[in-house]
Amino acid sequence: MATQPRSLHGTVVAITGGARGIGRATATALAREGARVAIGDLDGPLAEREASALGGGAVGLLLDVTDRGSFERFLDEVERALGPLDALVNNAGIMHMERFVEEDDAAAIRQVDVNLHGVITGSKLAVRRFLPRGRGHLVNVASSAGKFGIAGVATYSATKHAVVGLTEALRTELHGTGIELSVVMPGIVDTELVDGVGNTRGVKRVAPEEVAAAIVEALQTGRFDVYVPKSLGSLWRTMAVLPRRVNEGIGRALKSDRVMLDFDHSRREGYELRARRSDPSLGASGAQPALPEKAESRSD
Ligand code: NAD
Repeated sequence: MATQPRSLHGTVVAITGGARGIGRATATALAREGARVAIGDLDGPLAEREASALGGGAVGLLLDVTDRGSFERFLDEVERALGPLDALVNNAGIMHMERFVEEDDAAAIRQVDVNLHGVITGSKLAVRRFLPRGRGHLVNVASSAGKFGIAGVATYSATKHAVVGLTEALRTELHGTGIELSVVMPGIVDTELVDGVGNTRGVKRVAPEEVAAAIVEALQTGRFDVYVPKSLGSLWRTMAVLPRRVNEGIGRALKSDRVMLDFDHSRREGYELRARRSDPSLGASGAQPALPEKAESRSD
């Protein structure tokens, strides 16, 4: 790990899912550091608009992380436009909130495709570019749901645990190659992904800019475990030595075990529809097809 933060000036960084939320904030923070930024997103036109708003030669491109060809074309285009890739931030992700027994199979498959297969594909494609150069930084955005299984988002939690495991395994496998890795584990971040989710004691909400700052710091220092806020790391280490029943009791006392179950369904409809539109079987066109309305608004 570098002792002094490195300058990111002139480095080429590609960010998946960079048109909104954490990805957009990360693109902004990196551009401010002088990095040459590429945004890839399923919403191609929005990615283009966000990139031109950033200025500094940033590029915005259509990308479907579930489509290997799309991912390969994206990275080719980034390197053609900006130069050899220095870092890839695998950030694109979706979250369906539903009790596990009510979750339809398509929602489960979609989350695994985007959140896990998308990160596996991106990691492989980036590492293949990094290896011959003996350098490069892979940043995988998981979640605190990659450390704590969260009721109401069981499949999402499973995908994020998998991303943590993938990144830990790659850290060991790539030791000595010059490639650096980071895994980012935010708590609840104020983006559309958590529309309708309430507040609870013990779960501090953070702004996407705080996650972006942590990603910038990881790229500057080579930090592997990136908890946002940092206190989540201490919480994780404390919980790891306490008996499971004690941890669960604390969660119930703080009602943090309910935060993803007792949400406002009506305030989530827009996000849930957008996340459903990221279904790989619907294709990766910027013009998104209309979907039949599903019985999403429930009164429970
Ligand atoms: P967001 O919905 O605001 O942004 C996600 C972006 O990803 C969108 O622009 C969307 O178009 C894009 N995307 C979706 N599917 C895609 C695909 N197949 N290919 C390319 N782009 C695609 O969400 P966010 O909150 O900014 O989430 C970013 C990442 O952070 C996700 O991996 C998420 O799981 C993770 N995360 C979010 C939170 C939170 O509370 N918001 C907490 C922890 C981790």
